[in-house]
Amino acid sequence: MRIVFIGPPGAGKGTQAARLSRKLGIPHLSTGELLREAVDANTEIGARAAQYMAAGQLVPDGLAQQILLHRITQSNCGDGFLLDGFPRTRSQAESLDAHLDARDEPLELAVEIQASDAEVIARLSKRGRQDDRQDVIKKRLQVYAEQTRPLVEYYGQRKILRAVDGVGDPDEVHAKIAAIVQQAQSKRCQ
Ligand code: AMP
Repeated sequence: MRIVFIGPPGAGKGTQAARLSRKLGIPHLSTGELLREAVDANTEIGARAAQYMAAGQLVPDGLAQQILLHRITQSNCGDGFLLDGFPRTRSQAESLDAHLDARDEPLELAVEIQASDAEVIARLSKRGRQDDRQDVIKKRLQVYAEQTRPLVEYYGQRKILRAVDGVGDPDEVHAKIAAIVQQAQSKRCQ
């Protein structure tokens, strides 16, 4: 299945995506992880991305697209994939659609994981990643509201959007997501 997760930083996308990808046997692709690896390896993309990431801003669309679209053309993505943290802008969503439409393999499901600002601020403050400082967290939430949240409507119009409450026990959140996926899979086989 070809799935994207949308949600604010700290909503639990990474944790839930890792679990679901194991369950479905499809790769979990996180652009944040791919970019952090590129920064650590000091590649050209990493060197260009680092300053944006440290400031809580999005890296330019071209960089995010380059790192992600390259990865999904690799062979173990044939049975689908789960994208976590991409797309984050309308332009990224459109480039992903164009890429997948060209192969006649459109996205099948967009899962929005919902969590309030207060909840995600509390969670991220405990996590301690380099970009989890208070001022950077605020910036990331603002960027989410302005640039990424509009994708909920974008996928809503395509009739592939399902929302899930990300607050609460991770096992329960996982069960809700698994049920959504199962429903989408059964529709697909009809
Ligand atoms: P994440 O691990 O998903 O929270 O991403 C960490 C940081 O990587 C973000 O704050 C952005 O700076 C950058 N990033 C990750 N994915 C994208 C994307 N799709 N577009 C632009 N920047 C991204």
